[in-house]
Amino acid sequence: MIFRQLFDSVSCSYTYLLASRQGGEALIIDPVIDKVDGYMKLFGDLNLRLIKAVDTHCHADHITGLGRLRDMTRCVTVMGKNTSVDVVSMRVDEDDTIDIENISLRVMYTPGHTDDSYSFFLPDRVFTGDTLLIRGTGRTDFQNGDPIAAYHSLFSKVLGLPDDTLVYPGHDYNGNTVSTIAEERACNPRLQVGSASEYADIMNNLNLPNPKMMDQAVPANLHIGYQPEDPAISDATLDVVQARPLLADGSTLFVDLREDSERRKYGVIPGSLHAPYPSLADAIKPGGLLHAVAGQSGKTLLVYCAYGERSALALLALKDAGIGNSYHLAGGIDAWQKGGGEVTPR
Ligand code: FE
Repeated sequence: MIFRQLFDSVSCSYTYLLASRQGGEALIIDPVIDKVDGYMKLFGDLNLRLIKAVDTHCHADHITGLGRLRDMTRCVTVMGKNTSVDVVSMRVDEDDTIDIENISLRVMYTPGHTDDSYSFFLPDRVFTGDTLLIRGTGRTDFQNGDPIAAYHSLFSKVLGLPDDTLVYPGHDYNGNTVSTIAEERACNPRLQVGSASEYADIMNNLNLPNPKMMDQAVPANLHIGYQPEDPAISDATLDVVQARPLLADGSTLFVDLREDSERRKYGVIPGSLHAPYPSLADAIKPGGLLHAVAGQSGKTLLVYCAYGERSALALLALKDAGIGNSYHLAGGIDAWQKGGGEVTPR
């Protein structure tokens, strides 16, 4: 596996790059906006294709690189289901997986530092965000933080991982890079408590100043949804009211860009074709599924995803590929369902 632990010295944040091989798909966890050019250089050096950019939670001390990476690479942005961030391409929940080629991160909901804090783990390592730090834990005094929830996330979830699991945190202010579950259980001063209320007492009396960038970072991080500048996208965007009649009249092929796991969990729009977003490039080139279907059927394509971000990006790719008779569904299947659109099990 290709694995890089990258550091932003301004916010003392760690960012993690994972890929299974040179020339393959990559995933990045907790990217920092000011470091995006460096990540792009690294993707180039290692010949990697960024597929997913993931944040463990809405950060208060730096601006996330998710939006910029998405704009530069058309990657999928991923956060936990409970996030207040306006639009990410994919939301994940407890026990879901975040998949790229040969790598599958399992999702654990670990609220407490914020109410949208998630940890992601592989068999040998866990990315804890600010839930568990090395010899410390994330503060719980803003962004709907809750020390009792944090205690349960730590003791009932993170510390339940095998003892030798490597702990890769979201920050370190002392130069530490990695620890293990056993080491933190034994040596982390915050974890030497007998009850949730004892933990809450410690956390409620830390009296920490707010992060310097909090007033800029939180509002910026809450609004990272894709904002197409290209009028070709806005002109080819249909809302649910416009899209619903198209399902019945047969003029339009609905194309689902989501992954199989999302389709199983949330259902599909009846009759839709499946063309998963990560392999869209293959589907739209000559000989690919969508290229063939668009050419042969003469029908209009309506691409949709979970929240309308992947489909807007896909529209750019479709137009680039010369498949001009295509539209995307604003707000994705989430908006479709809320607007009374029909959904069937996959
Ligand atoms: Fe944080």
